[in-house]
Amino acid sequence: MLAWKSCQNDFAHDIVRFRSSGSCDNNINMEQQENKDAVVYCRVSTDEQAERGLSMDVQAKDCRAKLEAEGYTVLEVLRDDGKTGSNMRRDGLQKLLALAEAGAIQAVCSVHSDRISRSMVDSAYIREKLQKLSVRILYVNQQESDGSSASFVTDNVLAVMSQYHLVVTSEKVKATQRAKVEAGYLPSVPPVGYLNADNPDKNADRLSRKIIITDPERAPLISETFRLYATGNYNVVDLCDLMYKKGLMNRNGKQMSYSRFYDLLKNRFYLGEIHYANYVNKNAKHEPLVDEAVFNHVQTILQTKNNHACRKRKHQFLLRGFVYCPIHRKRYTAEWHLGKTKAYYHCPNRSGCGKYSEMTALEGAIADKFKDLQFSDEFIQAVIKKVSSEFYEQRRIYNGRKQSLINKRTAFEKQLAIAEDKLLNNVLDDAAFKGIRARVRENIENINQQIHDLENTHDLNIDVASEVMAFTQDIYKTYDEADPELKRHLLGFFWERFEVHEGVIINSTPTLIFQELLKLERIYTKNARKNQNAKNRSKRSDFSATSPEVINKIPLLRGQDSNL
Ligand SMILES: [Zn+2]
Repeated sequence: MLAWKSCQNDFAHDIVRFRSSGSCDNNINMEQQENKDAVVYCRVSTDEQAERGLSMDVQAKDCRAKLEAEGYTVLEVLRDDGKTGSNMRRDGLQKLLALAEAGAIQAVCSVHSDRISRSMVDSAYIREKLQKLSVRILYVNQQESDGSSASFVTDNVLAVMSQYHLVVTSEKVKATQRAKVEAGYLPSVPPVGYLNADNPDKNADRLSRKIIITDPERAPLISETFRLYATGNYNVVDLCDLMYKKGLMNRNGKQMSYSRFYDLLKNRFYLGEIHYANYVNKNAKHEPLVDEAVFNHVQTILQTKNNHACRKRKHQFLLRGFVYCPIHRKRYTAEWHLGKTKAYYHCPNRSGCGKYSEMTALEGAIADKFKDLQFSDEFIQAVIKKVSSEFYEQRRIYNGRKQSLINKRTAFEKQLAIAEDKLLNNVLDDAAFKGIRARVRENIENINQQIHDLENTHDLNIDVASEVMAFTQDIYKTYDEADPELKRHLLGFFWERFEVHEGVIINSTPTLIFQELLKLERIYTKNARKNQNAKNRSKRSDFSATSPEVINKIPLLRGQDSNL
């Protein structure tokens, strides 16, 4: 008994060692029924950290109270500070699993399932593992994960939505960046020679509030750099040194590295173009610092001096990785034919395999699969509830953060007013006053930028919320209108793979999550529902088969496939 007590207070490692010695295995099994030891699990990501500095402690306090109310002893508070929930590389989480495996805990409490994981696959894995080890999972703001079908559905919905939320947010960020590029602005800090500034036109739209102006000190030096290099009399290293002597420096006031300088000479931004991520605008709003003839001449010289091959991005085929040949079990490849007017997907097998599938036809057939999908009303309601509660939480944070920035700005404005008074009372000389004013202005500008970013994020949040709701209500429309990137996400959300032969989809393998949603009837296929009464019951029991091998063999949407 004494021996057990002492190991009970240590952690996973010691208990594993203790158990393997075999001296009190019986004790452990006997005692386990009565032990009520638990840990608290908290996590904040880097993004959230800035906004909710206190939330780690708040999380810990709430969880501790919940566990104690349930009669548990809290052994430890596991904290993952500044860690994303989208993977499992977290010390706190690993320790939680180790403790569970060692039989050291009987429960874990977290404020919400999304603290433990934001990835659907990971969260299913963690949930299953803890349940197998008889570790209860309690949440402060959510129903307990007790393995019952009701909590399973809740977990599932939340896991799916957390993941979808992450995906859509990143898509939205990209969309905003693209809109900015299309409007002629760079969505980030401009290269040397330019500066960010507020648009003097106060009625400018959201995308045009920040503009890019030429840096009066460095812009002429950039133009000169191109002019000098175009003479062919300089190499990159010498010119970089020379321009530094003339005053061309990076933002830290230091000499640019040679590789940076080399990149500068290739940067089409100086031509008045924007190339950002995959977005291009050849007619941007900022003033060019070099004309096209000089720029092109510079490129020719660079190319003859260095043999840098310019690799072009390959065309991304939408269905790449999703379409398989059922005979050769190989992934289809795709290529353009007839001078790039038509593209085909086909089996890569050497001896040939059926006919090629024309790209648009096959992509259309697969898009049609989305037409048949519909979420249940119950699921839609759950999503709306989840999305709005997340949005309200985000708005609370937004309001708080914005107010604190406004307060900071007011403080700086007061500082400036005091300096003005001192200047007028001759307490401060002109140089000192100008120094203070420049510093204050810089700080205010900085705060304004932060408020601006915050407002953008806020706009994004409501857009994401509305998009998630639109997605649950009309899956096909969302897919149909999505850009290729989001289309691939949505494809991967529902399907593992399609088997295609002679241009016909003969089998489709749903993802695990899609299978679960089907099993739980959170999503249904309209055809399947119509046909269900006509079909015999044995078909239906196939749906609830738990072995993935069995499920994979069921052509879930076969009725529809044969219609294609
Ligand atoms: Zn084949």
